[in-house]
Amino acid sequence: AHWTQFVNEPDTDWSSPVNSRWIAELLKDWKKRCNKRAVEIQPVLAGETTSGNDETLPIMKSYDVSRPEKVVCRIQPTALEPLMKSIKHVVDWRGWADTPLEQRHEILRGVAQKLRERRGDLIGSMVADAGKTVAQADPEVSEAIDFCEFYPLTMRDWANRPEIEVQERGVVAVITPWNFPMAIACGGVAAALAAGNCVVLKPCNETMLPAWLVCQAFWDAGVPVEALQFAPCADEVAEQALVVNPDIDTVILTGGTATAKRMLTVRPDLHLLAETGGKNATIVTALADRDLAIKHALQSAFGHSGQKCSATSLLLLENELFDDETFQKILADAVRSLHAGSAWDLHTAVTPLVSPPNDELTRGMREVDDDEYWLVMPEHVDGNPTLYRPGVKWNVKPGSFSHTTELFGPVLSVMRFGRLEEAIEIVRSTGYGLTSGLESLDDREIEMWRESIPAGNLYINRPTTGAIVLRQPFGGVGLSAYGPGLKAGGPHYVLALSRISNGQPLA
Ligand code: GLU
Repeated sequence: AHWTQFVNEPDTDWSSPVNSRWIAELLKDWKKRCNKRAVEIQPVLAGETTSGNDETLPIMKSYDVSRPEKVVCRIQPTALEPLMKSIKHVVDWRGWADTPLEQRHEILRGVAQKLRERRGDLIGSMVADAGKTVAQADPEVSEAIDFCEFYPLTMRDWANRPEIEVQERGVVAVITPWNFPMAIACGGVAAALAAGNCVVLKPCNETMLPAWLVCQAFWDAGVPVEALQFAPCADEVAEQALVVNPDIDTVILTGGTATAKRMLTVRPDLHLLAETGGKNATIVTALADRDLAIKHALQSAFGHSGQKCSATSLLLLENELFDDETFQKILADAVRSLHAGSAWDLHTAVTPLVSPPNDELTRGMREVDDDEYWLVMPEHVDGNPTLYRPGVKWNVKPGSFSHTTELFGPVLSVMRFGRLEEAIEIVRSTGYGLTSGLESLDDREIEMWRESIPAGNLYINRPTTGAIVLRQPFGGVGLSAYGPGLKAGGPHYVLALSRISNGQPLA
C-alpha cells in the first residue's frame, strides 16, 4: 500500500469488559513484579565490546513514580571507551544499509507486530517506570506501532521516485526524553532504520524500561545489534560519544532548548533534528462550544500532569468568558474533579511528577504575581513527594513569568483578551511554536487564527496533545525546534535521515 492509505493502529477499547478485566489483571501482576525485583538493564553494544560494563561506574536506578521507594530498574551505564569503540565498529559496517529496502521494511513490520503482541507489558512498564496512567500509556503504544509501519512505507515511496536518489546518512544517535519514553524512542529508531542508518539509542535515565522493551522488540524481530545499539550512559559520556564524536552523523533529540543549543556549540556542523520546548496556548473565543473547550483544555493541560511539550499551559479567554462566573465555576469544578493519585489506579487523572519540580515549576506552582490569583490552588498531596493536585492561575498578564516560562507541570495560566489579534500576539510573543489550540465555531475566526499563529501543530476544537501519525505530523517552529523542519510522523521525516543526490539536498 502507498503511505496515503496508511491505517493507524487503534487504541484499546476500554468499553469492552474483556479489556477492562485484562488491564486490571495486568496492573496487579506488574505491581507484584515490581515489588519482587528490579529489572536489570545493561548496555547492548556492537563489535568486540558487546557490553559496555565497567565495574567502576555506579549502577543507576529508576523508581516507580507512584511508589518512589520501589526501584523499578537497576541500570548499568556504559563507559565512554567501549561506546566509542562500538560506534567506530559500525561506521563502515554495511550490513543494514545493504539489506534490501523490502527486507528492512519486512523486519520493521515485524517489530510492529511484536509491539502489538506485547501491548500489555509495554503499558505496564510505563505505569511503573514513567508514572503514566493506562489512558496515557495505551496511545503511546499505538503511536510506536504506527511509527514502525509508517516510516518504511514513506521510505519506499521516496526510494521509488525516479527523480531523486536516497541513501542512508551513517550512524544516528537517538536521545530520548522521559515523558514519552516509548513512542519517541521507537519513532526515532524506526525512522533512522527505515532510511538504512545504524542507530545508537541513548534512553533517558529516569524512565528507561519502556525504551529497553522497545529495543527487545527490534532485536527479536531481526534488527541486528550493529544496527541498533542500546547505550544507557551519563550525560558527559553521551556528549562525547554521541555528539562531539565525528563518527556520529546525525542526532535526533527530544529535550530542552538549552540542550539543543549546547549540542550545536560543542559540534557546530552537527546534523541535528531536535524537538525542544513549548509554551503552548489554547485560545477560547466567545463563539466556542464552552463545555467542549473546557474538556479539551483540561485534557491538554493536565494529561500526564502537564509534562508534555505539547501541553496547553496558557488558556486565553475572550473577555466575555473570562468575566463569566458560570464559566469560571464550571472550569474550577472540572479541575477539582480530576483525581490526583497513583498511576496504578485506573480512576487517576493526574499522576505524580517524574522528578521533583525544578525552580521554575516550583515558582509557577507557589507564587502569584501582582494581579494574579488562584482560581484553583495547586496543592501537594501527602504521601508522595511529587504528587500535586492541578492548579489554575487566573489573570496572568502579558510579559509575566507565567506567560513566558515553560513550566512542564500541572498548572494552567489563564489570560484575558479582547480581540483575536490580541490573543494571537500573546501567543506569538512567547517565542515558542510547537502546538496551538483554538476553540471557536466561527469560520472567520478559525481562518484568521490559522493564518497568523506561529506553531508547528495547529489544533481546532481538539486538545493540543496526542498527535496521530500521518494525520498530525509533529514538530515546531521558533524556539521549539532545530533542524530541517521535517515533522515526526510525517511523510518527509525519513528524508531528514537520508542523503539525497540528483535532487535538492535538504540540509
Ligand atoms: N507528540 C506528543 C503529543 O502530540 C508530544 C511529544 C512531546 O511532548 O515531546 O502530545
